[in-house]
Amino acid sequence: MPEETPKPEAEAKGLRYAPQPIEEKWAARWAADADLYAAEPSTSARKKYYVLEMLPYPSGVLHMGHVRNYSIGDALARQMWMRGYNVLHPMGWDAFGLPAENAAIKAKVHPRQWTLNNITHMKAQMKRLGFAYDWSTEVASCQPEYYRWNQWFFLKFYERGLAYRKKSRVNWCPECATVLANEQVVDGCCWRHEETRVEQRELEQWFLRITQYAEELLAGIEKLPHWPEKVRVMQRNWIGRSEGATVDFTLEGGPAIPVFTTRIDTIFGATSVQLAPEHPVVAELTAGDAKLRAAVGKLVEEQRKAREQGDVGLVEKHGVATGRFAVNPFNGERVAVWVANYVVMEYGTGAIMSVPAHDERDYDFAKKYGLEIRAVIEPRGPEAEKGDAQGLPYTSMDSVLVNSGEFNGLANAEATARMTQRAEQKEFGKGTVTYRLKDWGISRQRYWGTPIPMLYCGKCGIVPVPEKDLPVVLPENVDITLAGGSPLARLEDWVNTKCPKCGGAARRETDTMDTFVDSSWYFYRYTSAQNTSAPFDPAAVAYWFSIDQYIGGVEHAILHLIYSRFWTKVMRDMGMVKNSEPVERLFTQGMVIKDGAKMSKNLGNVVSPDDMIARYGADATRMYCLFASPPDRDLDWQEAGVEGVSRFLSRAYRFVMKHSGRDGRKAVSGDALTGVSTVARALERKLHQTIKRVSHDFEGRWHFNTSIAAIMELVNQLYGAEEQIAAGSVPSDRLRDLQRTLVLLLAPFAPYLAHELWEVLGEKSNLLRVPWPQYDPALAKEDEVEIAVQVNGKLRTRLTVAADSPEEAVRQLALADEKVRASLDGKQVVKAIVVPGKLVNIVVK
Ligand SMILES: [Zn+2]
Ligand SMILES: [Zn+2]
Repeated sequence: MPEETPKPEAEAKGLRYAPQPIEEKWAARWAADADLYAAEPSTSARKKYYVLEMLPYPSGVLHMGHVRNYSIGDALARQMWMRGYNVLHPMGWDAFGLPAENAAIKAKVHPRQWTLNNITHMKAQMKRLGFAYDWSTEVASCQPEYYRWNQWFFLKFYERGLAYRKKSRVNWCPECATVLANEQVVDGCCWRHEETRVEQRELEQWFLRITQYAEELLAGIEKLPHWPEKVRVMQRNWIGRSEGATVDFTLEGGPAIPVFTTRIDTIFGATSVQLAPEHPVVAELTAGDAKLRAAVGKLVEEQRKAREQGDVGLVEKHGVATGRFAVNPFNGERVAVWVANYVVMEYGTGAIMSVPAHDERDYDFAKKYGLEIRAVIEPRGPEAEKGDAQGLPYTSMDSVLVNSGEFNGLANAEATARMTQRAEQKEFGKGTVTYRLKDWGISRQRYWGTPIPMLYCGKCGIVPVPEKDLPVVLPENVDITLAGGSPLARLEDWVNTKCPKCGGAARRETDTMDTFVDSSWYFYRYTSAQNTSAPFDPAAVAYWFSIDQYIGGVEHAILHLIYSRFWTKVMRDMGMVKNSEPVERLFTQGMVIKDGAKMSKNLGNVVSPDDMIARYGADATRMYCLFASPPDRDLDWQEAGVEGVSRFLSRAYRFVMKHSGRDGRKAVSGDALTGVSTVARALERKLHQTIKRVSHDFEGRWHFNTSIAAIMELVNQLYGAEEQIAAGSVPSDRLRDLQRTLVLLLAPFAPYLAHELWEVLGEKSNLLRVPWPQYDPALAKEDEVEIAVQVNGKLRTRLTVAADSPEEAVRQLALADEKVRASLDGKQVVKAIVVPGKLVNIVVK
């Protein structure tokens, strides 16, 4: 250990912690070293660690939610570097999207310029915050070098039958003037415009066949144990698998009407068939009956309105009887055919059997229209003993069949299997699986997105743009208005082109892609962002994937995280990647709120990261984000808290500045056991406990609030020992080790201060590569602990015992204590509960 001379200049300057000059000095040094945070190539002998925060939309400025998200990822990246891993920690921009177009209209600036300006600004903010990103792998989805691969993927999907075009009813946001995916409709409103009701329109659209992977997407959730349970549940519900059967009810004098049901076991209770107003058979049923046609027209209208309000399920139920009948193939009974406004074409077959006794909706409908209600299942076992208190509708799956012919007496599950089998044998039905998940509509009538690389030729029909002609570059000079469909459609020069097949006239597709395409595979590009011949280098992806840790907001639990899982599976089937899932571990951080609400301009409760940096420094701002609450919970912003963290950093700074020059002092040797003084031993113990705490938090649930609290306690204890330190009770090499380790522990949370103090301690090495400190369990162990002893909840005495005393020994010691015995007063001991390290509670009576 080199002996150093005291540094008088530190004293002379005063020991006031001024974060700005320190942080600016280091920001400049880091900026000058382009390779500082670069990952080693995939040939590295180190173990790899890919940590990723979700890429932001370049809206203009970072908000506190970003700072929190990135502070978590950055702490982890830095700590993993120190633990010797080869870390990939990239950043990029989800740079296409509507706000750029809105800004273009409002501020008369081109979306490209607006976006690139925002990226420049936000990147500077990230650098000022000290986030350790490898900028050599930066990706921006609005650059042709990136989006050409969106187009390339689209062509590959098309070749594989995974991209197709169809006319469909779409969600239309009048505010965005574009189509929204089902996933982008929240309670009937646009996900961006929470006040704007989504309308329904019919348009030709491009779809990606995500439903082909529905089963695998669902099954794969079970292989993601390191994803938050709430996200797994949300994905499961979104995919929405239901098992059921289709059974043909044959229309008298007409075709078979396949009916979808999840409760074939109740089919003997079907007393009508209900058709969706848009069911193809309805036109035939109403032909020649103007009155009926008008009534059905009204139902169509009601359903359309309900759809616009976002939920057909909430429509007030109406129906009309067609006067026709269909036959239930199980019992040959004739049942009335109705048309009802609550039955939709999109679910199942657009026709249902109505079983009023065992379905809430059917029950309401039957009551309203006076239809027959017939019970065909009954409670069994203990439920049956409750008598007839069950009431209708009775929907339990734990029941037995009655009034069901030869199936009487069977339990539901058994009956379901046998009846499905019967339908298949007799060829009037079959078991089916349906999903709530729909194919992914990716066409958007907007400008600022990836052009869909397809052409329409009068002779050849739909023709893909040849791969060699990619990218189809987004033209620059476009009149952007939010009315009247796609702005690209107005660019005649661009739209009109030649057909690559026949050389004749062709028109370009003028829709652009949903921006969720961009984010479905971007993290693969980070592994080889400069690649010009493929979206990524497969060898690099084989090394880096799966992503070890992905961190972002829970609002992406469905859209982004299902789409990117789908994309990965398609790429695997194309032979491009070996992994089936993109993300091994997912962490969703809580929101940053203030005064009880999410920060928003409207509420005027936004805290600007720039302001916080100017007042307290980047370190204090970042550290506060980690200290104020565990990262998975919401964080209620309190400026007093940032101030508190800043004071702590100041204390840590002063301590090291004051004592870094005292290395030269002679130590006074202390107790016999360790060869050092009691105070030195106590400090050492605290230090090892702190290393243990912080290391465990990194490996566990990331409760960095407790990590930081532990480091604060360590600093407090150092201050508490200042007099003894000044008196030389702590050997110089131990004091030095204390300071060195304190700095290492601070490094993931407050990188600027840590680097500064590292230098103050005379260290020359790159802090990011200094091994993370190890704790010695023997040194971390408390020698003795004080135990409170209570009798019936009343404190009677305190005992000092060895920290590792077995429970039984502590119990006996407590029961044998004189004060305790006196207070027992001859009563009988019922039990003695030991809370290890804390207390013994003796219960007497
Ligand atoms: Zn909208
Ligand atoms: Zn052609």
